[in-house]
Amino acid sequence: MKKALLLLLTILLLVSCSEPIRQDRLLMGTNCSISVFAKSDEERIQECFDILSSIEKRISAKLSESEISKINKAAGKESVRVSEETFKLIKRSVELHKLTKGAFNPLIGKITALWNIGSGDEKVPEKAEIEFLVTHAREGEIVLDEANQTVYLTDEYTSLDLGAIGKGYASDVLSAFLEKEGVSKALINLGGNVYAVGKKSKKANWKIGLRNPDGNGLFTTVEIEDGAVVTSGAYERYFIQDGVKYHHIMDPDTGYPVNLDLTSVSIICEDATLADALSTAVFVLGKEEGIKLLTELGVNAVLLTRDKEIIKL
Ligand code: ADP
Ligand code: MG
Repeated sequence: MKKALLLLLTILLLVSCSEPIRQDRLLMGTNCSISVFAKSDEERIQECFDILSSIEKRISAKLSESEISKINKAAGKESVRVSEETFKLIKRSVELHKLTKGAFNPLIGKITALWNIGSGDEKVPEKAEIEFLVTHAREGEIVLDEANQTVYLTDEYTSLDLGAIGKGYASDVLSAFLEKEGVSKALINLGGNVYAVGKKSKKANWKIGLRNPDGNGLFTTVEIEDGAVVTSGAYERYFIQDGVKYHHIMDPDTGYPVNLDLTSVSIICEDATLADALSTAVFVLGKEEGIKLLTELGVNAVLLTRDKEIIKL
């Protein structure tokens, strides 16, 4: 009898350790969920949401008091001193701009604000206006002063938009925080950008499902040990005008939504900021150029083409 009770207790304990404790919050314009697997880690979840909220307040181009908005308002006029974290992120965005051959362009803010996709009352902007802003986004510069930690946009017709790397960056910050706090196992999901902290178990990897762009369900799953799976799809934020679908990933060369030969791009790597930049950039570059870049960088990915071909790199 005693033995049976002990066995039952052990089983219960095992079950309670592997069952996730999950909470969801609407932050950074998306649903964010954090799961931990030990009761003692539960308090960390609220701390993660607090961190997310403070990141959003710093880097959102949509919040007028954010550091990014301050830089944007001072474009063409003066430099702005920012926090060390924001300075580092902007510096990283400049590096990622180069790495992606311009496909990820952090200076695209005036163009994304003009389209304002996701706002609910979108319409296709004037061609001339788009072309004007494209030239400026191409020629404007981000001047970084390390010593004074200031940022200056040389062109008043440009502004920063870090939306394409924000969630990846945030999950890097959260995973580092959880590791520092001794959380050995957690799952971060920021609107489909997943970061797995630690191994799922000794035997099994984490299985992350990739959503089908044109409906419900998954088109494949990927297995990871510890790290990020960041997905960009053109199926979440878009509007339709005169039967044409306009989605939220822009070609910096044209100022229009990219012409899609890919419908979903997932990047698998430990550096979620890099993964997020690449998921957007590969969309922009398209299948051929995108595969070339990923191969050059040696980064794993799952691409879904318009013809529903699944490419695993
Ligand atoms: P999601 O936000 O859906 O996860 P992404 O990571 O691809 O998708 O980021 C898309 C966001 O990035 C857009 O909403 C816009 O703010 C910004 N953006 C769109 N196109 C580009 C681009 N070519 N370079 C840099 N940022 C972009
Ligand atoms: Mg991205």
